[in-house]
Amino acid sequence: MSQQVENIKPGYPLFRDADYQKSLDNKHSQFEERHSEEQLQATFAWTTTEEYQALNFKREALTINPAKACQPLGAVLCALGFAKTLPYVHGSQGCVAYFRTYFNRHFKEPIACVSDSMTEDAAVFGGQKNMFDGLANAKALYKPEMIAVSTTCMAEVIGDDLNAFIGNAKKEGHIEQEFPVPFAHTPSFVGSHTTGWDNMFEGILRSFTLNRMDDKQVGKNGTLNIVPGFETYLGNYRVIRRMLEQMDVSYSLLCDPSEVLDTPADGEYRMYAGGTTQEEIKDAPNAIDTLLLQPWQLVKTKKFVESIWHHPATRLNIPMGLEWTDDFLMKVAELTGKPIPNVLAKERGRLVDMMTDSHAWLHGKRFALWGDADFVLGLVKFLLELGAEPTHILCHHANKRWKKAVEGVLAASPFGKSGRVYTGADLWHMRSLVFTDQPDFMIGNSYGKFIQRDTLHKGKAFEVPLIRIGFPIFDRHHLHRDTTLGYEGAMYLLKTLVNAVLERLDEETRQMGVTDYNHDLIR
Ligand code: SF4
Repeated sequence: MSQQVENIKPGYPLFRDADYQKSLDNKHSQFEERHSEEQLQATFAWTTTEEYQALNFKREALTINPAKACQPLGAVLCALGFAKTLPYVHGSQGCVAYFRTYFNRHFKEPIACVSDSMTEDAAVFGGQKNMFDGLANAKALYKPEMIAVSTTCMAEVIGDDLNAFIGNAKKEGHIEQEFPVPFAHTPSFVGSHTTGWDNMFEGILRSFTLNRMDDKQVGKNGTLNIVPGFETYLGNYRVIRRMLEQMDVSYSLLCDPSEVLDTPADGEYRMYAGGTTQEEIKDAPNAIDTLLLQPWQLVKTKKFVESIWHHPATRLNIPMGLEWTDDFLMKVAELTGKPIPNVLAKERGRLVDMMTDSHAWLHGKRFALWGDADFVLGLVKFLLELGAEPTHILCHHANKRWKKAVEGVLAASPFGKSGRVYTGADLWHMRSLVFTDQPDFMIGNSYGKFIQRDTLHKGKAFEVPLIRIGFPIFDRHHLHRDTTLGYEGAMYLLKTLVNAVLERLDEETRQMGVTDYNHDLIR
């Protein structure tokens, strides 16, 4: 055998060795009823055609490679953004293992999250007993100061009532009456991870402020509330804080998991770190206004803030790219009376300089992209500012109004003419699109690497490289530490995009004596 103790090889290249290849051949020939290589290739080729794409887009009852995750996953991320808060999922254990590994793989951090492990008996008789034991055990073992409860499909299918269960748990003494247990129903058969974030956030606001509005007054604390929404770029929490501090604005970032998802390796395990405090949530109705950084995904939050807190919840687009960051800062200045300082004006100027330096390389480049609604909208806007052409624009979970909004942004730019917007579509749809109308690049999460592999299989000329921006990113390290919001975020996006273009050009021009006449040192 080629695997030897002195020279341990990983799966690649080990399985390319002759003895493993022989063993695989034997498996194919002796135990599999495998189609011929010719038939496999013919079927592959057919899946790249317009005929196949038409059939693919008629698909109704099946999702293949969804470009979204399920509601409780978003609820868990939301709960992680509050101080000493334990995310608790009422439902099956496997779901919670999935949420934890999803975040582990993206953030490369341990994720504290518990489940009350509903099994067959709970599925038949309801999960109240699980919740009684679960709340008591979770509090005793992990000593949180808040437990934020969401649900999985199983609990929703049988109709478990969180309000009643938590109320009964308190009444029967499984957990103290005054211990905060905000909750949200997060049925995964509707919406997505962003809906789950919105539901959990609204549940937390509801729990701390709904019946405590008597002494509240809009503007009393002179603070601005900022709600990030489902946000996985840790740099985005930091850049928003930095810009507001540079403006000398008093603010409250309502939900901030950037500490607990980025704890140092110094010998001390921190189950809880940072996060928005309960005091901040209680005081939040006294703020001047509540700005939602990702308004398309914060529908329930907006309704609550407007109707219960009576905040204007002033409408803004996600502060991505140049113009929408300008809008954000100008709105903050208008609401707080604080001027935009020179240091931010200078940063803006640097971004404009970078855009000017790189625009020749990005001009006319065609990008396919997918992700969450606000992220995609913001990226489309910034691509257009760069003179790039967003072509296939896909959001799995977004409504018709969002589609119209993206089309409006495309229509306002000469570079938006070839842009087509798809909602309710998945990455198998995207695969068809990049075969039938080839863009130069894809921008999206790690799952896009399989589309890149497939396009390469058709031939080098058909390969569509993936630029990893979004969530989740499992196969590259530490990209989640970067920033996509504000001028700083635009600089990161620009740097990532233009260098992907230059890397591709180098790749295409490094063939000695054939294309290397253009393998330039200076780009
Ligand atoms: S979709 Fe439902 S069953 Fe699947 S992980 Fe999410 S909550 Fe669990």
